[in-house]
Amino acid sequence: MAKELVFGHQNPDTDAIAAAISYAYLEKQLGWDTEAVALGEPNEETAYALAHFDVKAPRVIKTAANEVAAVMLVDHNEPQQSVSDIAAVRVSHVVDHHRISNFNTAEPLYYRAEPVGCTSTILWEMYDEAEITIPKAIAGLMLSAIISDTLLFKSPTTTELDRQAVKALAKIAAVDYETYGLAMLKAGTDLSSKTEAELIDLDAKSFEMNGNAVRVAQINTIDLASVLARQAALAQAINAEISKNDYALFVVIITNILTSDSQVLAYGAEQGLAAFEKAFDKKLVDHVVELPGVVSRKKQVVPPLTAAF
Ligand code: MN
Ligand code: MN
Repeated sequence: MAKELVFGHQNPDTDAIAAAISYAYLEKQLGWDTEAVALGEPNEETAYALAHFDVKAPRVIKTAANEVAAVMLVDHNEPQQSVSDIAAVRVSHVVDHHRISNFNTAEPLYYRAEPVGCTSTILWEMYDEAEITIPKAIAGLMLSAIISDTLLFKSPTTTELDRQAVKALAKIAAVDYETYGLAMLKAGTDLSSKTEAELIDLDAKSFEMNGNAVRVAQINTIDLASVLARQAALAQAINAEISKNDYALFVVIITNILTSDSQVLAYGAEQGLAAFEKAFDKKLVDHVVELPGVVSRKKQVVPPLTAAF
């Protein structure tokens, strides 16, 4: 069987990396020739999880068609979030928990989508269905991904299945998931060494909304004020990206992971900013608005923005 690469989205988060590793392992047990790769280096949070469970970061690829004819996608499906030459390869499998948008294939495929908090939760079910034992280190990465995506169950995307998965995986990985989870989330909030250009790209995704290119970035912190203090420099970095990529709107969600509240920055064209204000029924003051209780890009930010556009 020809080899296939397994990977998550660009600007990978912990789920994108962990799901690639655990899905590649699962499919290998089922007879596929797979290799987990990534579309970028692990962030600080993911690096913490990989080090804790002693797993090497997947190799980073820029293109896929030079290596394989077919690929398996995890934690994404939208082509603009995928490998740059996604149109040149066949997508044979997708396991994801996001909206499905702009996704078309020429051939039949395996597609598994569930509206749960994390791709790794779906994979936990799939291991069980296939009766494959989850290795200890992979269980550790899977629970890290679920804790990351659900902000330790505080995100409104959290489902009962996510909680069950973490509890079961914590037994296999032999960790106290609450203590470990908070330490892992905090490891991802050390932003002092990052430039503003890096901050707005760490966890950023592009969306197509009624013909408009919209960029939505998220920064997790335990100190909102110190991120907001960098607004002028952040604005400069954001506006540079807007000119370069012709975004109608660039949104940065700055989330306090301890209180589950966000301050949001929005820049862009007049009509993009108008769509933003309409989406949240709030006025931006100097490009900032407070959105209490908003922590989920996929559930609380992208849907109202899509509707407003
Ligand atoms: Mn992700
Ligand atoms: Mn995810």
